[in-house]
Amino acid sequence: MLTATWSISSGWSAPSIVPYGPLAIQPAASCLQYATECFEGLKCYRGHDGRLRLFRPQVNAARFLKSATRIALPSFPPDEFLKLLVKFVAHEAPKWLPNNPDWRGRFLYLRPTMIGTSIKIGLQRPDEAMMFIVAVFVPADVNGPGNSASNPNSSPAPTAGPSTPPEVPSATSPPTRMKLLASKQDMIRAWPGGFGSSKVGANYGPTIVAQSEARRRGYDQVLWLFGPEDYVTEAGLANFFMLWTTKDGIKELVTPPLELGVILEGVTRRSVLEVCRSGKVGDVVVSERKAKMDEIVSAYEEGRMLEAFAVGTAVFVASVSEIDFRGKKLILPLDRGDSGGFATAVKGYLEGIMFGRFGHKWAHLVEEV
Ligand SMILES: *Cc1c(COP(=O)(O)O)cnc(C)c1O
Repeated sequence: MLTATWSISSGWSAPSIVPYGPLAIQPAASCLQYATECFEGLKCYRGHDGRLRLFRPQVNAARFLKSATRIALPSFPPDEFLKLLVKFVAHEAPKWLPNNPDWRGRFLYLRPTMIGTSIKIGLQRPDEAMMFIVAVFVPADVNGPGNSASNPNSSPAPTAGPSTPPEVPSATSPPTRMKLLASKQDMIRAWPGGFGSSKVGANYGPTIVAQSEARRRGYDQVLWLFGPEDYVTEAGLANFFMLWTTKDGIKELVTPPLELGVILEGVTRRSVLEVCRSGKVGDVVVSERKAKMDEIVSAYEEGRMLEAFAVGTAVFVASVSEIDFRGKKLILPLDRGDSGGFATAVKGYLEGIMFGRFGHKWAHLVEEV
């Protein structure tokens, strides 16, 4: 893992890469008492051409700064963040994603994090903090974008020495298609003026109860609704998209807008919007606008609902096969097996960039050492 510490008097220390292991922090540390924590999530891809790539890491760097600012943590300049990320990946990724054909099309998940470590028990802006980046190895049985066609995934995990990063347990592996359970009115993820648009840890712990309830009932994620109108916002920790035919017969791709601040602006969301607006994956009208559950139910009942999917670094592009809205079940057909046709096209295009099937400005090549 990579670590750097900060204090109000001396600023950021020189970062170092050390074996993965426990951190020493005080029980009174600000992050433990007051949730002064923010994080990022991105992947490093071993391309089909053997090269290592990050996907739009500049966007993560900017969001990390936004989240840290929201939770009163020090700023980490985006340019410096990107340099550290690249250095870390250049050193560590080759151990986990060796440059041989078996590992092409695989990825490593990266989790940059910042925590407030100051030990004054009163609530105040942390005067000490720590930033770290850990890598999470994703085992071969996890369905991810890389685990497709050309990759037999038969290789055992490489051993990278004593510093074994945490694995993603199979039970929490992203499904390639998902069933969503709409949230109840007494459980909301985020609200206007809140912090749902920042990647701060405080957004996530309180959603575990609803998430486990969904799991217990056979659903993969919660479809988070907002307000008495039941506006759709996000699907679990991923942004929500749907493709429908409007009453006027127009094929429209809809995702909820960012204005209210109840949605996390995903790098994947932004990329899907840009790709679809450029017309690269089919001819649809792209709208960022509010959509009520009522409108979705009518579209479904009138046969106008074509597809729904969730997008994010972890789940990538996962088609929704079912939405349960307070007992009403919307069953969405998946015409490509586990996926809808439109979602498959979007996924294929982005995967092409991530794994270097074609050159694109969103791919950030990393020279390994
Ligand atoms: C991280 C996250 C996303 C997805 O963002 P990406 O940058 O695409 O990975 C969406 N919603 C929430 C709540 C998130 O935390």
